[in-house]
Amino acid sequence: MFHLILSACLVDQPDVCAPRLLPAGDSETREQCLQSGPAIARDWIARHDTLKGSSTDCVETSALSALEVKEIASGVWFHQGEAAQLSPQNGGRIANLAFVIGDSVAVIDAGGSRAEGEELYAAIRMVTPLPISHVILTHMHPDHILGAEVFSEAGASVVADARLPDAVARREASWMISIPQQIGAAAFAGSAFATVDQPVDTPTEISLGARILDLTPAPVAHTDNDLTVLDRSTGTLFTGDLVFEGLTPAIDGSLSGWLDWLALDPAPKTQLFVPGHGPIRTSWPEAIGPEIAYLQGLRDATRKAIDGGMPMSQAIPAIVTMMKPLSDGWADFAAITARNAATAYTELEWQ
Ligand SMILES: [Zn+2]
Repeated sequence: MFHLILSACLVDQPDVCAPRLLPAGDSETREQCLQSGPAIARDWIARHDTLKGSSTDCVETSALSALEVKEIASGVWFHQGEAAQLSPQNGGRIANLAFVIGDSVAVIDAGGSRAEGEELYAAIRMVTPLPISHVILTHMHPDHILGAEVFSEAGASVVADARLPDAVARREASWMISIPQQIGAAAFAGSAFATVDQPVDTPTEISLGARILDLTPAPVAHTDNDLTVLDRSTGTLFTGDLVFEGLTPAIDGSLSGWLDWLALDPAPKTQLFVPGHGPIRTSWPEAIGPEIAYLQGLRDATRKAIDGGMPMSQAIPAIVTMMKPLSDGWADFAAITARNAATAYTELEWQ
């Protein structure tokens, strides 16, 4: 297969350029790709007005730059993100991503930039030429969803919790400014939030031919739009950021709701747990142990600060100090814990 690559530069910083892979240009031969390429690139640029196109080329799949992926169960492929916050070094590649192959392919989380989505697309094409029918977003956070447009352009339906579009809309303007500052303008070039085609508000099955995925919206926990995905045939549960390991869990929903969700075993027959950040695990207690300890510690420290009559400004550093003994194994502990302390204080103050 041949792939269309557009060299594009930022309109407001013309010396900042990046190659963009446009799946609509995929062709059996290089000639077909070269012939259809310029019109496809013009169309794409017309929809991405922060970029200006310069030239197009066509390359074979083996020449694409691809994310590292491994098969963790039959037909289930996994990429582990870096345990860090967004940075110019990682270009936003911090979330775990996956794809499941049936008669078609479903992608589960799409990466933290257009570039990472393209690298995941390349990794899929190195494994299978099957159509990509779905890209499922586990929740609103940009490190999981900014690559989704690549798959939408490849023909996939964008599937997410029904609450996600509003949640993204409320934050999109500020994310479009802050994320390029965090990862760099070139790494961010061409990134946009994809439109959700299939909102999910009740447990829903997605069929990839013989293979069924069960999608289950969660109550407010990590965010107010978390969704889990269970691959029935291998018993693999994709939890999104309802489960963290390595990178300190960030609360953007409800601490109590998250602890309640963790107290339920969401899928008793599960063999394999794929978290949003951190390594895959084969048992539920092992998958959630460190996170439960962290979140319970946060709840207890926050209650202590509130019961001691501390105002929020004093409580935040006090909670971070009380949490210090739990900091082992958590990246970016102090900064994320300070933000979590503010969220937890506001939530628990009224309980
Ligand atoms: Zn998240």
